Amino acid sequence: MARYSYSKLNTYRTCPLQYRFRYIDKIRVEVAPGVEAFMGSRAHDALEWLYKQVGHGCVPTQEEVVAVYNERWDAERPGDLRIVNEDLDEAAYRDAGQRCLEIYCRRHAPFDEGIVLGLEEGFQVQLENGIVLNGFIDRLMKTEEDIYEVHDYKTSQRLPTPEQARADEQGGWYALAVRRRFPHARAVHLVWHYLRHDEELESERTPEEAEALEQDIVRRVRTIEAAAEFPAHESALCDWCDYFGICPAKGHRLAVDALPPNEYLNEPGVVLVNRLVELRARLKVTGEAMTEEIERVEDALLHYAREHRYTVVVGDDHEASISESEALSLPRKDDPAREPLEAAVRHLGLWDDVSDLSLTKLGKALAEDRLPPAARAELAPFAATETRVTIGLRKKREAEDR
Ligand code: SF4
Repeated sequence: MARYSYSKLNTYRTCPLQYRFRYIDKIRVEVAPGVEAFMGSRAHDALEWLYKQVGHGCVPTQEEVVAVYNERWDAERPGDLRIVNEDLDEAAYRDAGQRCLEIYCRRHAPFDEGIVLGLEEGFQVQLENGIVLNGFIDRLMKTEEDIYEVHDYKTSQRLPTPEQARADEQGGWYALAVRRRFPHARAVHLVWHYLRHDEELESERTPEEAEALEQDIVRRVRTIEAAAEFPAHESALCDWCDYFGICPAKGHRLAVDALPPNEYLNEPGVVLVNRLVELRARLKVTGEAMTEEIERVEDALLHYAREHRYTVVVGDDHEASISESEALSLPRKDDPAREPLEAAVRHLGLWDDVSDLSLTKLGKALAEDRLPPAARAELAPFAATETRVTIGLRKKREAEDR
């Protein structure tokens, strides 16, 4: 049985390499929890406590809710908290969480907007092929007969537009889970509380949308389970990634950042990237015949990246991204092995399928194991596995400057 949470599927979408580190290799890294997530969890604790009290017939005051938040902050605080935003400190985040609760209490007291069916309510949804979706709903409510509400608390700085909230995939997961549990539901309202902004974004998902989401999830799970490569997808979210310190796309940057300025420019990777930038720029402008030198520098760069297991090597104002992938290679037109290959393809009756012997199509059919065993056995000797290397140069991204 394959279990997937929203955050697991979302991790693959954000960065397949991070997914591999976390869910396949199960690497545990010693990093301090991020302060944003810690603050969010403590605000959730306080709101869960609040609604439990309401369930027992007592309505807590705003001060009591804030006191619970602060107690939990002190009790749960790990030895260290990771703060990425250098303009803020822990106290600023703690205060922000406190303000979120004050705003919420002012707006919702006496908290009697329906019947609470569950707090931090776990769900499991069975899909085809043994796929199981699981997750938790912050607060599940019944507001009228057969009308349900999912409440989700957000403590982030970002306030999405109503259209973005309407398209939010996580909402679709919740709607799917509630409709499975209450098939007679006349409506499932999704209420997203943006606590910092005192805003509530409401949306719904139709049964057709829920079905389309279900199919999309099954398709994505199949893609993940068939994946052979898990490339690094760098983005602004890397700053919050637990695996930053072991990521091959970040290792060189971290290593050179630790060097004193006078050593930085002599670091071999930096020298090679700067030289490659210069050579490619000259080739573009003057058309000078310097391909050989470029190849030499690229070879040296590839060697350097492989030796250190980097996929990104930084220079002064550019960085080189090095990707390698395994691909099947078949004899080209001028190769003596081409004629016997064409004969074999004709003999096997595959000529029409790969029209004019498209090496790409034939290679794909072989790589994806789509040919009958006899055809595969006859064609396999023509195919060799080769490593394709691409070295791309790009401007260093501002957001990633550290
Ligand atoms: S640091 Fe960025 S690129 Fe590397 S694993 Fe994490 S999210 Fe992916």
